[in-house]
Amino acid sequence: MKITFPYMGYYAPVFTNLFRKLGNEVVAPPRPSKRTLDLGTKHAPEFACLPLKILLGTYIEALEMGADTIVSTGGVGPCRAGYYTRLQEKILRSLGYDFRMFTIEPIKGHLMDIVRTIRSFVNVPVTKLYDALTTTWLKLAYIDQFERVCHHRRPVEINRGSSTRLLEEGVAAIDKAQNCKEIREVGRAYVDMLGKVEIDETKNPLKVGIIGEIYVVLEPAVNFEVIENLNKMGVYAHRSIFLTDWTRENAFLDALRIQPEKQIRAQARPYLNQPVGGHGENSVGETVRYAKSGYDGVIQLAPFTCIPEIVAKSILPKVSRDLGIPVLTLTLDEQTGLEGVMTRLEAFVDLLMRRRLRAGEASA
Ligand code: SF4
Repeated sequence: MKITFPYMGYYAPVFTNLFRKLGNEVVAPPRPSKRTLDLGTKHAPEFACLPLKILLGTYIEALEMGADTIVSTGGVGPCRAGYYTRLQEKILRSLGYDFRMFTIEPIKGHLMDIVRTIRSFVNVPVTKLYDALTTTWLKLAYIDQFERVCHHRRPVEINRGSSTRLLEEGVAAIDKAQNCKEIREVGRAYVDMLGKVEIDETKNPLKVGIIGEIYVVLEPAVNFEVIENLNKMGVYAHRSIFLTDWTRENAFLDALRIQPEKQIRAQARPYLNQPVGGHGENSVGETVRYAKSGYDGVIQLAPFTCIPEIVAKSILPKVSRDLGIPVLTLTLDEQTGLEGVMTRLEAFVDLLMRRRLRAGEASA
């Protein structure tokens, strides 16, 4: 089997390694580019949301590079993600590609299906499977930690680019680490180095929360590197979703009927009291939480035609008025361009800065 899978930020090399450790050849998916989106847009239905188009384009590129097996994730609930792999499979077959497709569904209610699916591409004994899964988890957890620390240091770093350089070095070093001991050593070293990046302690950066649909929040190539660009403007951007947190809460704990996400849903409740799929409820709840935690603003990343984020977007103006927190929605589709995004980010940052100055004058 020559496996490929959806590309996702700094996590992509970790999944390449995982599938190799499970005894497969891997065709690493390329980072999403204009060509990826053009291919996806050309062959997907016009109404489909951006993640479907990007992933479709990614699969076409990987199949052209020699992949013969696609492993992707499914979904349940009101969002359309649950049938997207079926649709992508149909489209790819109609284009003449010959391949196998595996969909890993959420654990809750699908445990035996997942075991059956995973067994299809596991070609190693159980001990090696355990090793592959534990090292993968540890690598993902350290990458999340690197990014968290980097997001804190980069807006106020003294030597421009030093945090990003260390982050990229750390991800590469984690990728090379072979076992849990090595991963921990490398991980701790880079968390420590990132935490010591020289910063201007006198600065008090604006604080912005980043909410929205999981794929566009996690994939910088799709969200126009919104966090890095805000950091370069001197703004601290807190990403509301990290892959290991999300997996722990939505796959493992949810399967055990333990719901730590309940808290965020409780925050959303005065405004939205029923599931709307995807991250719709989270987007509302996170905005409430950011407002109560003293953040200056919130940016919602919403794929065009994404129903959960459309529902959230229609509610956020009320949250914004009630709690006094500005919210900017960036709707992302194939028409969105870097210049437009940057102009809107700059205008939003300018607005937040003026609000802060006014608030300072009022309290003086
Ligand atoms: S959450 Fe939105 S963007 Fe993501 S798959 Fe569902 S409808 Fe599409």
